[in-house]
Amino acid sequence: MSQVKDVIIIGAGPAGIQAAIHAVRKKCDVLLLGRIERSALYSAHVENYACVEGVKSGEELLQTGIDQVKRFGAAVMDDDVLKIHVLDEGYSLELESGISISTRSIIFATGTARKKLKVPGEKRLFGRGVSYCVDCDANFYRNATVAVVGNASAAIDGALTLTGYASKVYLINQKLVASQELLDKLKGSDVESFDGTWVTEIQGDDDVKSLLLENGEQIALDGVFIELGAKGAMELALEIGVQLDMDTMSHIDTNKKTETNVAGVYAAGDITGHPYQMAKAVGEGCVAGMEAANFARKQKRQES
Ligand SMILES: Cc1cc2nc3c(=O)[nH]c(=O)nc-3n(C[C@H](O)[C@H](O)[C@H](O)COP(=O)(O)OP(=O)(O)OC[C@H]3O[C@@H](n4cnc5c(N)ncnc54)[C@H](O)[C@@H]3O)c2cc1C
Repeated sequence: MSQVKDVIIIGAGPAGIQAAIHAVRKKCDVLLLGRIERSALYSAHVENYACVEGVKSGEELLQTGIDQVKRFGAAVMDDDVLKIHVLDEGYSLELESGISISTRSIIFATGTARKKLKVPGEKRLFGRGVSYCVDCDANFYRNATVAVVGNASAAIDGALTLTGYASKVYLINQKLVASQELLDKLKGSDVESFDGTWVTEIQGDDDVKSLLLENGEQIALDGVFIELGAKGAMELALEIGVQLDMDTMSHIDTNKKTETNVAGVYAAGDITGHPYQMAKAVGEGCVAGMEAANFARKQKRQES
């Protein structure tokens, strides 16, 4: 493999940052992917983290962490992962910016799964037309009319995927923020966009029947996919056969070494389940960083 990274960490929250620090200090070639402003910690104010006195802003903590990661020699990119492919040796990640990068090991540090729209009807109709996972549920909407709600790469990618299943796909967005490549793909597709508006209600008695938009329009449909933020870890994990926690189906199953069921793939932080706390994220990040680095170094020795 050419230009292959040892460890790629998906997620620039406390788990990913700590993982990057520990992996790079084991003399590995490390890339940290993600945006601090999308970390759950970003707008938080933390006062229960050991050895840090007073109330600290999440933004400040994260920025300090990113500076440390860079200082220790890891690469950092504000980019979202759209797809992961399994190679003979390692993995290849497709990024929102259009770049593909190969790696010997991956750490999922992508935070909690699903962001909610928080509109009437969403909770009640979950599983009855409301979905948070295009890759899990697209097949149920063959020849149906569906909408995707979201402003970033996950929503666009989801809408494009759904054109392979549904007969009509709408994309409801306030303002799309994504790479030009993805925006161009959207432009050339059959997706119909409702720009500069948002959903105020998901309607239906037993199943989803329509969406109400803030501009007053009502759209009749069979399903709505809520895709806020980056592509969800669940979809990415499922793509490469990573097992989810059987109880919740919304967390990645790991052992004490943060290993998943897939060789060379680790997970840390909120994505592995409760408690959703910075201390747990950092602890698991530390373990994952060291374990992934050990794995990559062993792989490298076998390759040479
Ligand atoms: C309002 C609020 C207050 C809180 N207060 C506290 C507190 O006082 N104390 C405490 O301990 N905890 C607190 N928490 C919880 C804490 O913020 C989380 O437990 C912690 O941020 C989890 O870290 P993480 O690294 O697992 O995930 P996150 O911090 O959520 O980071 C996830 C990262 O993954 C990235 N990502 C996701 N998908 C992709 C993708 N496809 N490609 C690339 N990157 C991706 C995101 O961009 C982000 O950078 C609070 C949370 C909130 C929301």
